[in-house]
Amino acid sequence: MRNLLILGGGTAGTMVANKLHKRLPHEEWRITVVDHDDDHHYQPGYLFVPFGGYSSDEIVRSRHHFIADGVELVLGEIDRVSPEDNVVHLEDHRVLAYDYLVIATGTTPRPDQTPGMLGPEWRRSIFDFYTLDGAEALAHALATFDHGRLVVHIAEMPIKCPVAPLEFTFLVEAWLREQGVRDRVELAYVTPLDGAFTKPVASDHLGHMLEERKVDVVADFMVESIDPERKVLVSFDEREVPFDLLVTVPVNMGADFVTRSGLGDELNYVPVDKHTLLSTAYDNIFAIGDASNIPASKAGSVAHFAVEIFVDNFLEHAAGLPMTGSFDGHANCFVESGDDKALLIDFNYDTEPLPGKYPLPHVGPMSLLKETRANHLGKLAFRHIYWNVLLPGHPIPLPAHMSMAGKEIPEAQNNKEA
Ligand SMILES: Cc1cc2nc3c(=O)[nH]c(=O)nc-3n(C[C@H](O)[C@H](O)[C@H](O)COP(=O)(O)OP(=O)(O)OC[C@H]3O[C@@H](n4cnc5c(N)ncnc54)[C@H](O)[C@@H]3O)c2cc1C
Repeated sequence: MRNLLILGGGTAGTMVANKLHKRLPHEEWRITVVDHDDDHHYQPGYLFVPFGGYSSDEIVRSRHHFIADGVELVLGEIDRVSPEDNVVHLEDHRVLAYDYLVIATGTTPRPDQTPGMLGPEWRRSIFDFYTLDGAEALAHALATFDHGRLVVHIAEMPIKCPVAPLEFTFLVEAWLREQGVRDRVELAYVTPLDGAFTKPVASDHLGHMLEERKVDVVADFMVESIDPERKVLVSFDEREVPFDLLVTVPVNMGADFVTRSGLGDELNYVPVDKHTLLSTAYDNIFAIGDASNIPASKAGSVAHFAVEIFVDNFLEHAAGLPMTGSFDGHANCFVESGDDKALLIDFNYDTEPLPGKYPLPHVGPMSLLKETRANHLGKLAFRHIYWNVLLPGHPIPLPAHMSMAGKEIPEAQNNKEA
C-alpha cells in the first residue's frame, strides 16, 4: 500500500481527499486526512455573522460528513513533519508515515503578532471577524454601537480573502444607514497597501466606491502597535489612527509546525512551484490552498481551481511521469457591496480583475467589476454549492484556468499592447 497523507481537512484538504479517492485504486492507496477537530467551517459565512446574517449551525458542519467513506480522518494536533523520514508527528505522540504528503493547513489570524492587540481592549473595542468567535463578539458590539469612529484595519498582507475587509466596510456602511445612525459614525479604512486593493484597475474601482460612501482611506499604514489605553493604531512611521471600535484583520500566518519542520518561510508558508504546487525542497511534498507561498490570492476559489489541476498532476507524478498541468493562479471572488448587491472579480497570476461578463461573454449572468443583484445572489448561493458540490469533489462547470472570454480590456492597456 502507498500512503497519501493530507494535513488539514479544510477546503483544500477535503477536496483533494475526495477527488483523489475517486481516482486512485483503493487496493493500492491509503488516504488519510489529519485535522485538529471535527468542525468544518464555511469561512466566507463569517462576513455575515456581525450583521445577524448566519448562525453558527449554518456555517459549521462535521468534517466526517464531507470526507468520503474509505478515507481515514485522524483528529489530532500536528506537531511536526520529519521530511527526511517521511513521517508526521502528532502532539499526542502518534506517528503517521507517508509516501506523499499534501500540506493543506491553511492560514490563521494571529492577533498575538501586533503588540497591544490582545490587550485589555480585545473583544471590548477591538474585534476581528476572521474567526467565528470574533464575528459573534462583533455582532454584540455592533448591536449597541450608534456613534463614534469605526476603523476597519488590515495589519499586514497577505491575508486570506483580501476583499473581505472591503466587503465588511461596504456592509457596515449600509447597515449603519439602515439603523439610521450613519451620520453619527465616522468610517475609516486603514491598509498597508497603497490603495483599496492589490491590483490597479480593481483598486481604482473599489477605492472610488469607498469614496462614494465617505469612507476615509488611510493607505501605506504599517501598524507597529496598538495603544489600548488611548485607543489608537500606531504605525512604524509614527502616524496614529484613533478608533472607538476597531475591526481588524490581524497578521495571517501559516501553521507553526510548518516552520518547526524546516518547511516554511517567515510567515510559515510552504515554498512551492507556483504552477505544480510541488515543494521546492522535497519531491514527495505538495502544499495547496492558503498554506503555500504561491503569489495568488488566498481564497477558497483559488484552492478549488488549484485542486482541479493538482489531481491530474498528482496521478502523473505518482506514476513517475512529468506533470503536464500548470496552475495559473485563477481566483474568482464575489465582493459584497451592501444593499443586496455585489461585484465579481476574476483574475490570475498575469491578468488583473477586468470589467465584463462571466462566465458567458455578453450574457453573464454575472457582471465583472460591477455592482449587481445577480452577483449578490451568486454569493449567497455559493454556500450551498460549497457544502453540496465543491467539498464532495463533484465537478463544477467552470474552467479551472482563467478565461479572457467576456472580459473587456481597458483602452489604455489596449493601446499599450498595440
Ligand atoms: C471572513 C472570510 C471570508 C472569506 N470569504 C471568501 C470568499 O468569499 N471566497 C473565497 O474564495 N474565499 C473566502 N475566504 C477564504 C477561504 O475560506 C480560505 O481561503 C479557504 O478556506 C482556504 O482553504 P484551505 O484548505 O487552504 O484552509 P482552511 O480551509 O482554513 O483549512 C485548513 C485546515 O487545517 C487545519 N489545521 C491547521 N493547523 C493544524 C494543526 N497544527 N493540526 C491539525 N490541523 C490543523 C485547520 O483546522 C483547518 O481545518 C474567506 C475567509 C474568511 C476568513
